[in-house]
Amino acid sequence: MPDSTVYHYHNPDTGDHLASLLPPDHPEMVCLQQGSHDTQTRFGILGLLAAVLWFPLGVGLCLLDRRVVCRRCGLLIDDGVCN
Ligand SMILES: [Zn+2]
Repeated sequence: MPDSTVYHYHNPDTGDHLASLLPPDHPEMVCLQQGSHDTQTRFGILGLLAAVLWFPLGVGLCLLDRRVVCRRCGLLIDDGVCN
């Protein structure tokens, strides 16, 4: 029989209780327990090219190509194009 330990977590942000099979040292669970993500802003290569080639108008395109990801769990927090 496989060992299926269920871990219980408490989200400090929302106060939600959560049961998960992921261990406490899993990146996603570390983020959950801290209530925040280790965010990093990345600019897409197309946006950077546009910013250089069509300066200053391209800077707007660069911002559209911006993505905010979590360095720890890799979650995409802000997909610039959709906003
Ligand atoms: Zn995260």
